[in-house]
Amino acid sequence: MIADRPEAILATPDSRTINRRDFVRRVGGLAGLGLISCSSPVEPEDSPGTLTPADQPLRVVVVGAGMSGLVAAYELSRAGHDVTVLEARERVGGRVLTVRSPFASGHSVEAGAARIPPEHDLTLGYAGHFGLELDRFYPEDGLFLRYENGERATIPPSSFLSEWPDFVKIRGGSDRLPAAFAAELGDRVVTASAVTDIVAGSTVTTTARDGQSYESDRVLVTVPVPLLSSIRFSPALSSAKTEAMNGGFHYQSATRVFVRFRTRFWEAEGLNGWGTTDWPEELWHSTWDAQGPEGVLLTYVRGARADELDALDGDARVSRVLAHWEDYLPGASAHFASGTSHSWQRDPWSRAAWAEPTPTQDAELGSALARPEGPVHFAGEHISGARGWMNGALESGLRAAGEIHGG
Ligand SMILES: Cc1cc2nc3c(=O)[nH]c(=O)nc-3n(C[C@H](O)[C@H](O)[C@H](O)COP(=O)(O)OP(=O)(O)OC[C@H]3O[C@@H](n4cnc5c(N)ncnc54)[C@H](O)[C@@H]3O)c2cc1C
Repeated sequence: MIADRPEAILATPDSRTINRRDFVRRVGGLAGLGLISCSSPVEPEDSPGTLTPADQPLRVVVVGAGMSGLVAAYELSRAGHDVTVLEARERVGGRVLTVRSPFASGHSVEAGAARIPPEHDLTLGYAGHFGLELDRFYPEDGLFLRYENGERATIPPSSFLSEWPDFVKIRGGSDRLPAAFAAELGDRVVTASAVTDIVAGSTVTTTARDGQSYESDRVLVTVPVPLLSSIRFSPALSSAKTEAMNGGFHYQSATRVFVRFRTRFWEAEGLNGWGTTDWPEELWHSTWDAQGPEGVLLTYVRGARADELDALDGDARVSRVLAHWEDYLPGASAHFASGTSHSWQRDPWSRAAWAEPTPTQDAELGSALARPEGPVHFAGEHISGARGWMNGALESGLRAAGEIHGG
């Protein structure tokens, strides 16, 4: 099995928030798995990170509309603060990206966040808060593939899934979660607005690439560490943050290649399109529960294999993966329709997949990355107990929102 990212270590909820586990219990049914539906509406004022009303409303600029920035902006603005979110991309969600093209109608795949472990109470709690429905992530039928040392084995679901906890996914695509936050925030989110300068004095002036400036009492910066260096900070960031942003804090690389097939040819031999190999890769059939004759398989590779695919152009990446799949899905190329890919290292607004510092880097720089610098605060999955997960990003956004709200 390919090692996954560390499981969540959840921070103690801020004293100003309601207890998250109580909230999750109230949403109901999230501890047991199988098919989970959050369709029963919860009280609109309930959320896992609800803050008390602000005694002294502040003007807050949030840099980045990923999960950490969105949850902070949402809770701060519900508490009465005047929030503006500046996002470099033309979309919200950051490393939550659902891809719907070039696939059949109703088919989608995830370039980033996809599966939700049962203990991720913030991700599940906010999905419930917004009335999003959840489905099982892995199929329970069909054979899983394992390909190692040139040997191809088929694994029954009971055996394969015993290695994997019961993960779920957001029905319709992971991007429904950031979209739900953004819909509530409305025009407080400004997209296509990359921040270039943050100048802190008695107030903070944040300037975007189009020259537009925003004055605020506080700024919350949620960009991945490698992107801190693309913003001019005055005064300059601490030496620890500077060291981290200049490559001193290791990030993992990850690339996904998606291939659309005219038929689900693998089903002829009872396969469900999922598996693992020693390429190494994870093979996913993301459209397993979607209608239609077509199917989209994806390969999920990290580290050196991701770097190798990134060196190819888009079409060549797809061809490389198809040729490799012929080893254990013979005849795959004959059913090929189209393909695409996403490299998080090549994405200018991520530059990497997720933070994976060495123990030394973590000990020396980890806590410094979370430390506010005057009125400038910091959040993001890299500053959490669940790096590489939406839950970690939400946890860090709530921690920073509590920091701003509380003082
Ligand atoms: C391949 C992959 C697989 C994953 N799988 C899972 C999974 O299965 N389950 C799960 O829970 N999580 C998963 N994750 C992790 C999850 O996607 C992230 O932890 C989370 O989305 C990070 O949120 P964030 O707010 O910390 O950062 P981001 O999402 O990166 O948000 C930061 C935002 O800042 C913006 N930005 C950058 N620079 C600027 C600037 N100068 N000005 C303005 N805006 C700027 C960016 O465009 C971005 O929108 C996965 C991630 C990857 C990459």
